[in-house]
Amino acid sequence: MALFSKLFNKLRGGANLTAADWKELETSLLESDLGAGLTSKILEAARKEGEIAEESVLKTLESSLSQSDRSIHKSKDRPTTILVVGVNGTGKTTSTAKLANSLKQGGSKVLIAAADTFRAAATEQIQTWGSRLNIPVVVGKQNGDPASVAFDGAAMAVSEKSDFYIVDTAGRLHTKQGLMDELGKIRRVIEKLTPVDEVLLVVDATTGQNGIAQAQTFMEAVNVTGLILTKMDGSARGGVALAIESMTGIPIKFSGTGEAVSDFAPFDPQSFVRGLISEGN
Ligand code: GDP
Repeated sequence: MALFSKLFNKLRGGANLTAADWKELETSLLESDLGAGLTSKILEAARKEGEIAEESVLKTLESSLSQSDRSIHKSKDRPTTILVVGVNGTGKTTSTAKLANSLKQGGSKVLIAAADTFRAAATEQIQTWGSRLNIPVVVGKQNGDPASVAFDGAAMAVSEKSDFYIVDTAGRLHTKQGLMDELGKIRRVIEKLTPVDEVLLVVDATTGQNGIAQAQTFMEAVNVTGLILTKMDGSARGGVALAIESMTGIPIKFSGTGEAVSDFAPFDPQSFVRGLISEGN
């Protein structure tokens, strides 16, 4: 569904802007989960120019994109270590497998750790992906200490000279303190052996504004370096991820567009923003 095209088409037809038109734009922006901050920025820019021009909305959206690097850099002499974090159900385990696969396809040696020891299904799921993709997966005892699995995996990644070490963490949002303690401990034990290079937060495009609260909780718990935006294949527009990116400066690095392992790609900000406005999803 094209987000603003109805409005743009009407305006292109030469209609004068009424209060209702401005309201319609505001409602569409809020409905696309861009959040109050970004919405008022767009409205302000449009008001200044006196028209709701597609280009002006596009310009404001593009200017709120993060300028940070969106790529993952491979370290030369040690495993590049990536923690994948996020609320259960966002697509964390699937994204871990997809990311591992895309790095392997690029010629890298990859190791995964299943540090979500609280859900037997999560461990089984990542093991199934691992055997399907021919990527080794380090697992621990159910209900065991996730940090100990992360540590064992780090030791293996170092000794086997893996290029990438990816840790699928538990996504329980029990208490903020609990989350901080758990992710902090995972990070600390890995860093006894090798630095953590990236912490990727998985954001479900369909979660709406709740995604912002989730992101804030995780950002307070651990130093998030990038976002993975999942479920972009549905009707969701992913505006929430742009809201998070513009609020925090943390770049969206990858997007997921389906349940298959190949439904994953580096995030393309320009086409995403254009898609938000004119093509629809
Ligand atoms: P986790 O609990 O965060 O580890 O989430 P999972 O990886 O188990 O994913 C939850 C559900 O979302 C599963 O049914 C996945 O197949 C599905 N899923 C994950 N990523 C995507 C995506 O990009 N698009 C769609 N349509 N489904 C996805």
